[in-house]
Amino acid sequence: MKTRVRFAPSPTGPLHIGGLRTALFNYLFARKEEGIFILRVEDTDQSRYVTGSENYIQETLEWCGMIPDEGPKSGGNYGPYRQSERKAIYKEYIEKLIERGGAYYAFDSNEELAESRATIEKDKQTFKYSAKNRMSFKNSLSLTEEETKLALKGDYVIRLKVESGNMVSVHDEIRGTVRVNTDELDDKILMKSDGMPTYHFANVVDDYLMKISCVIRGEEWLPSLPLHKLIYTAFGWETPKFMHLPLILKPSGKGKLSKRDGDKDGFPVFPLSWGEDTPGFREMGFMPEAMINYLALLGWNDGTENELFTLEELESKFSVSGIQKGGARFDYEKARWVNHQKITQANTDDLIQMDTVKKMLSDFPKKNHLALFNLVKERLFSLNDLRGELSFIQSPYAYDEKVLEKLKDKGPISVLNKIKEEVEKDNEQLKESLMAWAKENSVPIGTLMQCFRLALVGKLTGPDLFEICNLLGKELSLKRIDDLIKYINLKLT
Ligand code: GLU
Repeated sequence: MKTRVRFAPSPTGPLHIGGLRTALFNYLFARKEEGIFILRVEDTDQSRYVTGSENYIQETLEWCGMIPDEGPKSGGNYGPYRQSERKAIYKEYIEKLIERGGAYYAFDSNEELAESRATIEKDKQTFKYSAKNRMSFKNSLSLTEEETKLALKGDYVIRLKVESGNMVSVHDEIRGTVRVNTDELDDKILMKSDGMPTYHFANVVDDYLMKISCVIRGEEWLPSLPLHKLIYTAFGWETPKFMHLPLILKPSGKGKLSKRDGDKDGFPVFPLSWGEDTPGFREMGFMPEAMINYLALLGWNDGTENELFTLEELESKFSVSGIQKGGARFDYEKARWVNHQKITQANTDDLIQMDTVKKMLSDFPKKNHLALFNLVKERLFSLNDLRGELSFIQSPYAYDEKVLEKLKDKGPISVLNKIKEEVEKDNEQLKESLMAWAKENSVPIGTLMQCFRLALVGKLTGPDLFEICNLLGKELSLKRIDDLIKYINLKLT
């Protein structure tokens, strides 16, 4: 059987990184098995539909380089790939199911159901519409044929007929087999009164019709698996395989990672921005390669200590046995570390062509872009760090007063004059000459370097001093040395 997997998001807002991780694992599984990766948009719940979400999902997949083989945009032989365009299909299949005796019409009003619920809950019991009590409700099983015909003129839903006292056994490729007694389940609604299918029904029908061989989705859907199995069985269909991916947990404490965690600690939980106030990983300076690599680590490993992979490597190494059962803790610093590695490994020529990078370099002459980027490349954990790392070159700065205080009694003026003299001479052996001079005159190397750095950068951190000097060029370097000499003179007098 050909491997066919699907990523089936609901367009109810931006894609959470947990959703993107599900997409990634589906994609990798498809590539590894030389199968087909499908995007199916599950938009049957019109009350939760959010305009722009589908485009967002599509754009995110493209940014990550995970182009669906089949989907609303890519097309394919099993479409339409938007559930809202498949209403006629669901109608045909629900009628088939009723004919087979696997489902029935139910006519109870919301008020009637609420009343029954209240009575049951008063006794601290959970309300369930099931084999035990369905004959006391208004449905096509309890009413006569005539009554049913009449009732069908009004509103109705269609429910799955779950037989009581059976054991359903469901198998998850990651977690193994679980057995559930059907008495624990209820007669779930499959078709709503507006003629739209519920998630459960549409999902099963589509997975069957789209010939999905393995359903890979988040762990939150595991409790629905027995119900899905019953729908397959009611149709007489074989089930696909199932894999439920571990939850992505908060950075600390209990529970699932949420947008609130990100807002609280200042990290993104969406891959791309959503509105102006919610930046995504992309806007926070992440490379898509890093996003993918980090997401792959959230619940999977290749059995070694290796944590850095390209998409191609992941495509060939991915395996179900490497997926963990337990939740995967989100760690933003780790994500930044992965991004740092990707930036370091990337070709600078390519990096400076990226829109975000171009924007940050736009204040500098184009001929220096490559050198400037290379100067600070090793220090970047996000592409956005570039602006800060380069700020010393363009902006006026304040000197670090604490350093000045320490240098004040160490003859900084004569040191600075010597540096100035050598820079003036265009000395190609600047570093060596200054070192030799310092040694001869018993000036500690630390003092020499600190004076020079303070002059050029205003503080003691930053990239290699002599490279900075080169990049600033003779004129600007001399000016900055002069500025510091003047500043110290002013302070000391
Ligand atoms: N539409 C569901 C979601 O957004 C998909 C669940 C599934 O993959 O079956 O989570």
